[in-house]
Amino acid sequence: MTTTEVQNLSTTELTKRFGGVTAVDTATVKFRHGLINALIGPNGSGKTTFFNCVTGMIQPDSGTVSYRGKDITGRTADRVAGTGIGRSFQLCRTFPQMTVLENMLVGVSGSTVAMMRSSKAKDVVERARGLLHRVGIDHLEHAEARNISYGQQKLLELAGVLMSDPETIMLDEPAGGVNPALIERIMTLISELNKEGKTFLIVEHNMDLVMTLSDHVIVFDRGQPIATGTPQEVQADPRVLEAYLGI
Ligand code: ADP
Ligand code: MG
Repeated sequence: MTTTEVQNLSTTELTKRFGGVTAVDTATVKFRHGLINALIGPNGSGKTTFFNCVTGMIQPDSGTVSYRGKDITGRTADRVAGTGIGRSFQLCRTFPQMTVLENMLVGVSGSTVAMMRSSKAKDVVERARGLLHRVGIDHLEHAEARNISYGQQKLLELAGVLMSDPETIMLDEPAGGVNPALIERIMTLISELNKEGKTFLIVEHNMDLVMTLSDHVIVFDRGQPIATGTPQEVQADPRVLEAYLGI
């Protein structure tokens, strides 16, 4: 079996409404294991809500989410994280008053807390430092998160996600608001981590990033996937041009 045939994350008829707005509308989506999957679509097309339903931040109204053959619909965010899915947020969720290193050590997920209980705190600090080094901000370990740049906060958040060693990583706009030099670094990191075996699900507006990095693209419009394929395939799809450009 090739890696792409292994079931990663999938949803069936996933639906989430906010009052009269159907943010995610009977979305049936399959992500490919071992690959970099991108979820793109116009603003307000339901990408973040889809991520939130999948990761247990909010509960869907109907439909199912499964991961590696297990039904994980309705699980809390901690339990979803425990299955091996890590995520970052569109707007960074770092603690501004805490230092960079402290941000790495707050139990961001159940599995991190479990790891901190089961191993020596010193090992956890060493792991945090190693990951800060990997994303290139280890020199900032004592800086308060509010004093580092937005791009550096995004790198901090990515390093935090890596603390629990998730096999699947969901990133909501990793390059949004980030300067070009740091976007380059984020892209290199995603590519390297993917080569090490991590599956990625990335929501991103930066088309250079999407087209360069991703293997499999899913295009959302009004809460539903309207096209899937390679970056080249979706770029040439008339439905995608219509959703983006209204032509
Ligand atoms: P995207 O991430 O693709 O920009 P969102 O998932 O943020 O889209 O939003 C999809 C739709 O759902 C939008 O119309 C948005 O206004 C609405 N929406 C998202 N979150 C909420 C919320 N918590 N309450 C009410 N409406 C929401
Ligand atoms: Mg969003």
